[in-house]
Amino acid sequence: MNTLFKVTNKISANGQAVRHIFSGVKKLQQTQEQVDAAEATNTRLPLTTLSEDEQAMKETVARLAQEQIAPHVREMDNDGKFKSSIIDLLFQNGLMGVQIDTEYGGAGCNFMTTILTVEEISKVDPSLGILVDLQNTLINNVVIQLGNEEQKKKYLPRLAADTVSSFALTEPSSGSDAFSLKTTAKKDGSDYIINGSKMWISNSDLAGIFLVMANANPSAGYKGITCFIVERDTPGFTINRPEKKLGIAASGTCMLTFDNVRVPESNILGEFGKGYKYAIEFLNEGRIGIGAQMIGLAQGCFDATIPYTMERAQFGKPIFSFQSMQHQIAEVATEIEAARLMVYNAARLLERGEPVLKEGAMAKWYAADVAQRACVKCIDWMGGVGFSKDFIQEKFYRDVKIGSIYEGTYNIQLSTIAKQIEREYKN
Ligand SMILES: Cc1cc2nc3c(=O)[nH]c(=O)nc-3n(C[C@H](O)[C@H](O)[C@H](O)COP(=O)(O)OP(=O)(O)OC[C@H]3O[C@@H](n4cnc5c(N)ncnc54)[C@H](O)[C@@H]3O)c2cc1C
Repeated sequence: MNTLFKVTNKISANGQAVRHIFSGVKKLQQTQEQVDAAEATNTRLPLTTLSEDEQAMKETVARLAQEQIAPHVREMDNDGKFKSSIIDLLFQNGLMGVQIDTEYGGAGCNFMTTILTVEEISKVDPSLGILVDLQNTLINNVVIQLGNEEQKKKYLPRLAADTVSSFALTEPSSGSDAFSLKTTAKKDGSDYIINGSKMWISNSDLAGIFLVMANANPSAGYKGITCFIVERDTPGFTINRPEKKLGIAASGTCMLTFDNVRVPESNILGEFGKGYKYAIEFLNEGRIGIGAQMIGLAQGCFDATIPYTMERAQFGKPIFSFQSMQHQIAEVATEIEAARLMVYNAARLLERGEPVLKEGAMAKWYAADVAQRACVKCIDWMGGVGFSKDFIQEKFYRDVKIGSIYEGTYNIQLSTIAKQIEREYKN
C-alpha cells in the first residue's frame, strides 16, 4: 500500500511538503540532524519544533479530521459505534500503521508522528483517537518490537491495511492490580489452551487480532504471564456486547470470554513468562498516547468554545471582553500548552531511547487533569448552551473522564511517579 501518495492525492493542498509525510526513516534522520545541528551550535530546539515531515503530517491529519471525520462524530456517538467508512478512511490514509515499516505496508514514521496523529484526531473525536492510539502505541509497537519475522510478516501487513486490534490485560477481578490476572494458558502438545475472561477491552467489537495476557505458569506467579496472539474467529473465543458508557461511546468496549481457546505455541509474542514486563514497558509508551488524546481533546473543546465567547454579547459587550473571563481563558490555554510540552517531551525521550516511566506517567496524569478542567471551564463559558446537546462541548465533557481511568488510574500514575521520586532520592 502506498500510503504516502494516497494521503497526498486525497487531502493535501500542500503537495511538496506532504510528499515526505510517510518517509519515516528520512524523518527520523531529519530530526536527528536538527538535534545534531542544535547541539553543534550549542542551541536547543523548542519542544514544539517539528520536522518538515512531522509538520506536514500534523496538518494533513488535521484536515482529514476536520473535513472527513467531524461531520460524522455526533452520529457515531449516538449510535455507539464507528461508521465502517471512517475506519476504512483511517486505514487508507496510513493512520493505523503509522510506525509499521513500509516493508510491511505501513507508513514507517516515528513515535512523534503517532502522537501528533492521535492529538489531531482527538481534537475532533476522542473515541476515534483511542482507536488510533491503541492500534499504534500498543498493539503495532508490541508486534514490531517483540514479533519474530514470521509473526511480523503475518500480522503487520494486516494491522496496517485493514485489521483493527485490541490489547487485553484487564479482567473482572484485576484492574489496577493487573498482574493478579486469572486467565490461564495451559500447554497441550504444541498448543496452549486459554480459559478465563477479560473486561473493558477497547475496540474489541471490531478487532480481528487480540494480544491477550494469560498466565501460562501460575505457580510462578506474575512471572508466568505470557502474551498470546488470538484471532477473532478462534473457536471458544467470545466477544460480548459493548458496554454502555458515559463517554467515548463509539469506541466499543467489551468483555471477552475464553472457553478452551486453542492457540499454537507460535502465537506467543516475545518470551514465555515475560508478559508482565512487556505490559509495563508498552503501557509506559501507551500512556504518552493517552496524554496526546487528552491534549487533543482539551484543545478541540477550547477551539470550539473561544469563538462563541467572542460572539456572545452580554451587558453590551462580548463575554470574552470581561477580565474575569479572559483570566480563566488564559489559565486554561497555559495549562493545555504545559500539558502538550510534557507529552511531546516524553515522546522525544522515548524516541531517543531514554526511560519514560516517570515522564510518561506525569504527562498522562497532567494531561488528563488539565483536559478535565478545560472541559468544565468551556461549558461554564458557554453558559446554558454549553449544557445542551446542540453543542459539542458536552460530548468532550463526557469523553474526558476516561483519561483518569484507563492505562492506569490517577492514583496509579501518582504512585508510579512517587515511586520514581523515592528511588531518585534514595540513590
Ligand atoms: C472505557 C475503558 C476502556 C478500557 N480499555 C482497556 C483495554 O483496551 N485493555 C485493557 O486491558 N483494559 C482496558 N480498560 C481497563 C482499565 O485499564 C481499568 O479500568 C483501569 O486500569 C482501572 O482498573 P479497575 O477498573 O479495575 O479499577 P480498580 O483497580 O478497582 O480501581 C478502583 C479505584 O481504586 C483505586 N486504587 C486501586 N488500587 C490502588 C492503589 N494501590 N493505590 C491507590 N488507589 C488504588 C483506583 O485508583 C481507583 O480509583 C478500559 C477501561 C475502560 C473504562
